[in-house]
Formats: sequence, structure tokens, C-alpha cells
Amino acid sequence: MLFGTNGIRGIVGRELTANFCMELSQAFGSLYRKGKKEIVIGSDARLSSEMLRKACVAGLLSVGCNVVDLGYAPTPAIQHYIKTTSAAGGLIVTASHNPPQFNGIKTLGDSGIEIAKDEESKVERLYRSISGKLSLFLPPPNAIKLADWNNIGRFSRADPLEGYIEGIKKKVDRKLIKSKNLKIVADCANGVGALTTPQLLRELGCEVVTLNGNLDGAFPGRDPEPIRDNIQDLVSFMKVNDFDLGIAHDGDADRAIFVTGKGEFVEGDYSLALLAREALRGAEKRKQVIPTGVNTSSVLQDVAKEYGGEVKMMRVGPMSIARAMMEHGSPIGGEGNGGIIFPDFQYCRDGGMASARMVEIIARNGPISEILKELPKYHMSKRKIACPDKLKGYVVEKSKKHFAEKGVEYVTIDGVKAYLDDGWVLIRPSGTEPIVRVEGESKDEGMVEKTTSSYIEKMGNWIAEAKDDKG
Ligand code: MG
Repeated sequence: MLFGTNGIRGIVGRELTANFCMELSQAFGSLYRKGKKEIVIGSDARLSSEMLRKACVAGLLSVGCNVVDLGYAPTPAIQHYIKTTSAAGGLIVTASHNPPQFNGIKTLGDSGIEIAKDEESKVERLYRSISGKLSLFLPPPNAIKLADWNNIGRFSRADPLEGYIEGIKKKVDRKLIKSKNLKIVADCANGVGALTTPQLLRELGCEVVTLNGNLDGAFPGRDPEPIRDNIQDLVSFMKVNDFDLGIAHDGDADRAIFVTGKGEFVEGDYSLALLAREALRGAEKRKQVIPTGVNTSSVLQDVAKEYGGEVKMMRVGPMSIARAMMEHGSPIGGEGNGGIIFPDFQYCRDGGMASARMVEIIARNGPISEILKELPKYHMSKRKIACPDKLKGYVVEKSKKHFAEKGVEYVTIDGVKAYLDDGWVLIRPSGTEPIVRVEGESKDEGMVEKTTSSYIEKMGNWIAEAKDDKG
């Protein structure tokens, strides 16, 4: 399968080559070409992105698509461009938060959001037919047709950045933000967030200092995934300097994670809860549904309840969340990794919008370290254990049986999440790696460590038993 939970990902020169991108784009272009309507292409600023983006351009033009090349831009800025123009769809060359040797492709429809699973299958099937990788038993392809010399697509360039920044500015209280003279640090990970977030915040009237604010596809400043360990420079900077908020993006700036003015790392579940509380306060309708991953902290549930809403737990990953939001007309949704969707702007994860909305919250309510005290404090523990792919199903079945025998209530949305007396534990096989994750949460820090440790041990025993059984 080409497509994983979040588009196509691979290592450059191995899975992700210029040839691959050209052929995939021929397949995508053949299926998504609608008359003269354009296909949009853009990328993050990885060392391989220029090469792969241009291969995509060649592929699209060769099947007669008119192409608009947006160059380097944050993923949500490219999505916003597609949504606000008459484009028939688009491709984004990005590997998001992955290390620099990776790259990937996202395939988008005319609304700027990722195409559905069955559409991905169509693209994949056509791609395999072009590249001769189709099974001998399937009928030969007929849908791919190279354009004649005089029907090759037209090429143009456009800038999505201004429109994106202006779009965000219209969605927040600019007067209020400007009146507070906030001082912000933006850690852009040397990624494309540097093209928009500092400018956006300055235009909102904030004083902005950047960390890792120049584009560099080798990511020399830090690993592009905005997790606690990777953004310690920002944390230290916030501790010794007088700023109001620190923001950290991933490599394509669809995610934003925050650090308080005192240099406290804000868990992504908590920033999601703060942004959700603000969205619920502003929502006209009561009983709002907020979709999130099954592994998100209960703090979101507590916030939703306070406003008569409810949390809908989904499989982990942004696609299922965006679709559930459309279905329920949700005011917000997202995950604890900093990927948050604001549907009043667009149905995709948006690091720029998350930043602007968090700045607005501070302008309205004061320092984020104080606001956080209003939320109940949960402790989370995230562990993992090696597990061969073929034993993942066994581990899930065994877990269900175990909780059933103990008379513990559980759900099986993604893995097995069991509700214990003092919190919850989630046993969830990874979709991409040979590991099982054991995640837990409790108001008692010692308890949650004890619980996850004991389940890691149980998993270890079950996996060993199964290996013995199956030889
Ligand atoms: Mg990303």
C-alpha cells in the first residue's frame, strides 16, 4: 500500500524518488484533471522537496494538467489556496515532522482536504499500472494518456502566503491582540512556518522573536517534531527572557505546541483543551461534539462537559477527525500532538491558526500559566513495547479478554481503552511500526506510572507466550 494514515511517506532515494513522484502525479493528474481547472502543487523546504516537487510538476503537465506551483509554503497555506481558488485539487510534497531524510506526498481534493481512502486506492491502482507494477492478472490500464505536444498543460506560479495570513487575521480579534503588546517567540524548526507565523503575529501587533527561523531542509536547529525533548532551546529561552508565549511548529507548520511565559511546556492535550474551551464559549449551539483521538487526555472531556458538549473519540490520526467534524458540525477538533482543526477557517490541521487563536486567548484572559490552573490536572504516561505485526491482533484479543474477566469497562475504537477506578489505560498497536503502545492517564502521578508499567510487563509476557505457541 502506498498510502499510510497520513498520505505517502518514505526515505528519499529509496521509496521517494523523482521517478516515483512523476508517475504518481501522472496518475493523480489523470484522475483529477477537470477541464482547464488548475492542479496546485507546493512543498515544505526539505533538501529533497525542490527535486520532488518539480518531478510532480512534470508528471502533471505531461498528462495535460494546468499547474500552479506555490513553491515553499506551510501545508495549511497550500490547503487554504486550493480551498479559496477554483483549483481542481493539489499535491503537497512534505514529510511533516519526520527527520530530514524523509519526504512524502499528500493528495488533496478541490476543497483542499486529503482525498478519501477509496480515492487514494484509485490513484494507487492507476499509478501501479503506469509503472508496470500491476499484477499480471489484472486487466491492462487504459486511463493514462500522455498529452500531445500541443496539449501539454500550462505552468504558472502563485503566492499563497499573503492570502493565508490575511484569512487568519480576519478570524481573530485584532484590536484586542494589538492592545496588549504581546511578546512572542516562534520556533519554526527551520521549516516553512518561518514564512508565515512570524509575519502573521507581527501584523497582529505582537513583538516577535524567531528561533530556527531560516529555511534549512537539513533541520540543523532541532528535530522537526515539536515534542518536549525537541524544543528545550525554546523552553530555556522562555525561562530566562520576558516573553508571553512560545510557539513551536513541526516541519510543515500544520501543528503548533506552546510554552508558557515562564518556560513551562504545555502538553498538547492541554493547549487543545484551552482552544476548545474558547471555541465552545463562542459557539452558538449547545451540545457541541468535539472529535479527538482515543488517546487524548480526559481534560478535554471535562472542558466539553462544562459547556454541555461532548467528546467523540476516534481512531488516532487527522483524517477521521476532520470527517467526524464535518458530520457533526463541530466548532473545533484535533489531537494532543498540536494538530488542531478550526472549521470556521478550513477543515485541516493549522499551526498558524492555532497560534493566532492562542495569542487571542492570552490577550483576552491573561498569562497561559494562570489559565492552565483553571483546568483539572491529569498525569499521562506513554510507553511502548516491541511486538511483531502478526501478534498485534493477538495482543488486542488478549487485552479484551483480560478486561472483560476483571469486569472493567472498555472500548475498542483504536486498540483497547479500559476505564480503571483512577483513570484509563489504552493498549494500541501502531499502524506503521512493529510496536504496541501502552498509554495511561490518572490524576495520581504515581498510579499512572504503576499502571502503565504493569501493562507493559503483561504485554511482554503475552507476546513471549504467543511467540512460544506459534514457534
Ligand atoms: Mg505536519
